[in-house]
Amino acid sequence: MAALQIYQFPCLSDNFGVLIHDPEANVTASIDAPEADKVTAAVAEKGWKLTHILTTHHHADHTGGNAQLKAATGCRIIGPRNEAAKVPGIDETVAEGGTVDFGAHRIEVLDTPGHTAGHITYVIPSAKVSFVGDTLFAMGCGRVIEGTPQMMWDSLKKLMALPEHTAVYCGHEYTQANAKFALTIEPDNAALQNRAKEVDAMRAAGKATLPTTIGMELETNPFLRPHVTAIQKRLGMEGKPEWQVFAEIRARKNKF
Ligand code: ZN
Ligand code: FE
Repeated sequence: MAALQIYQFPCLSDNFGVLIHDPEANVTASIDAPEADKVTAAVAEKGWKLTHILTTHHHADHTGGNAQLKAATGCRIIGPRNEAAKVPGIDETVAEGGTVDFGAHRIEVLDTPGHTAGHITYVIPSAKVSFVGDTLFAMGCGRVIEGTPQMMWDSLKKLMALPEHTAVYCGHEYTQANAKFALTIEPDNAALQNRAKEVDAMRAAGKATLPTTIGMELETNPFLRPHVTAIQKRLGMEGKPEWQVFAEIRARKNKF
């Protein structure tokens, strides 16, 4: 099996575009399509041909390029069954338990609702990689717009259960602001302190801070750490259910 090739590039003001490519099968997928021209340029730069779009959720900053890219390439658009009507150009719907064959690689689908009601995550175990859209960010998580905090927490728990080495590609470069907030929730977490400094240096050098890994997020992302006693104490929520602690952290981030 040829190794999956992955190319990440900035789109819009703070979105990421990501291409995945299987060289043997000569298939290329865009993970979401924030901006058609940027995706087209990235595909050309790599010398690939766009064959698929894999949509994580319906928001315009993730689907705005669908129509133009489909018209130009005839690519097949795959997206979330539970909000399919809101995804422009969708050809095939998928939901938890479903799979998509991509060359020699099998893409697995998880339902991760909360940011939107039908949001999905794509996982490729053979490449040790996941594409989480706006569900999980580096040291952060998506706003709970269409779901409930408990629903979002259940979605995050599914991601937390992935192997720690799993690379995580997210929809946005929000890392530096997330680190500042994370330090207000868990100021004594040494791994978080170190990571915040590394992120500042990467951003100062104009570098992307993603992908991250599940293991890195488990250590430094306060939204994945509502079980930690120091966090519960800081929030005055000792012994409270994890989803309630998560909800409090999310509420504080909304006001931060
Ligand atoms: Zn979104
Ligand atoms: Fe987004």
